[in-house]
Amino acid sequence: MNTQFENIVSIIRHRYGNGQIPLHAPVFRGNEKKYTNLAIDSTFVSSVGEYVNQSEKMLAEFTGAKYAIATGNGTSALHAALVVAGVQAADLVITQPFTFVATSNAIAYCHAEPVFIDIDIDTLGLSAYKLKLFLDNETFLNKEGDCIHKSSGRRIKACLPMHSFGLVCRITEIAALCETHHITLVEDAAESIGSYVGNTHTGLIGQLGTLSFNGNKTITCGGGGAIITNDEAIAKKAKYITTTAKVPHQWEFFHDELGYNYRLPNLNAAMLCAQIEQLDGFLRNKAETAEFYHSEFAKNNIAFIKAIQETTSNYWLNCILLKDRNERDAFLKFSNENGVMTRPAWTLMTKLPMYANCISSNIDNAIEMENRLVNIPSSVL
Ligand SMILES: *Cc1c(COP(=O)(O)O)cnc(C)c1O
Repeated sequence: MNTQFENIVSIIRHRYGNGQIPLHAPVFRGNEKKYTNLAIDSTFVSSVGEYVNQSEKMLAEFTGAKYAIATGNGTSALHAALVVAGVQAADLVITQPFTFVATSNAIAYCHAEPVFIDIDIDTLGLSAYKLKLFLDNETFLNKEGDCIHKSSGRRIKACLPMHSFGLVCRITEIAALCETHHITLVEDAAESIGSYVGNTHTGLIGQLGTLSFNGNKTITCGGGGAIITNDEAIAKKAKYITTTAKVPHQWEFFHDELGYNYRLPNLNAAMLCAQIEQLDGFLRNKAETAEFYHSEFAKNNIAFIKAIQETTSNYWLNCILLKDRNERDAFLKFSNENGVMTRPAWTLMTKLPMYANCISSNIDNAIEMENRLVNIPSSVL
């Protein structure tokens, strides 16, 4: 029997007790039912309603964004964000291979193609260092001021880093690189509501960012997402194309560009308002869990990933590192068989058939993290 595995499971049980422990269970202890009932009573259950406006106000207030646009899920927020960023067919968009598939899919929905740049081991997010190497060596600015990938001749329109498991990547450095190379920065902050660099919420370092309120995220409304930004023109465009690009008129249906039915329904927005009301408390509880894990794992020589300097993680899903892929798999088997739900990170995007032939830099860090990382129970207590 592996005593290290037993130590890890016993530390998790110390925090979460006996019985079956989920990875991340949603918590509905607030006004979820009350607001949802009120939304039904109002008859406004669909894409128009007071809770949609209210949830956007609350999201803007919580994140410090000037604008928030609520969408049906995080993936549609990402797709719309890239459209607003001006990503067009045949463009390239820089992202990381270590992410949930939605990040790459959103790029593909624009008929653009991802370029995979490695992550940093300490942040699990896009590496500013490796991004700089790629941009310095493999791109140039043409006379229109577009960033062009030398060997393919294609335009790099946007960069889409992701804040993995709530940990914040080196986004300030990435933003500076994007600016000098004329690349629009869109942050996939689906996992990082409540994560900050300094006092700036993730998603607001770039021109725009996206959130997700799927069932496994820090707060959920069944399905939901949002675009956040400080730029008024971006906000207007985002709201317009996510509501079918309908030109306002009392009765006429006229749509002057390709739009999407991506608006968050009022029913879900009602739930979202109730969840945002509890978000500060959820984040405090998650910080306590991370602190507990960190100190207990340190005593037992188990590698636990902490937020880097000047960043605050929401610790959406806590991460430990095992020695290698064999040990990872053995631990996944041991913990899940013992009623403690644990999961590996995603299969790298570069291994998925849709993205296997995309441009990619050296991705040694991503490969190592895929092999070694395990997410452990992280629910709000
Ligand atoms: C959850 C998530 C999304 C969006 O997911 P939806 O289920 O569409 O809300 C996007 N990117 C990442 C990295 C995610 O974890």
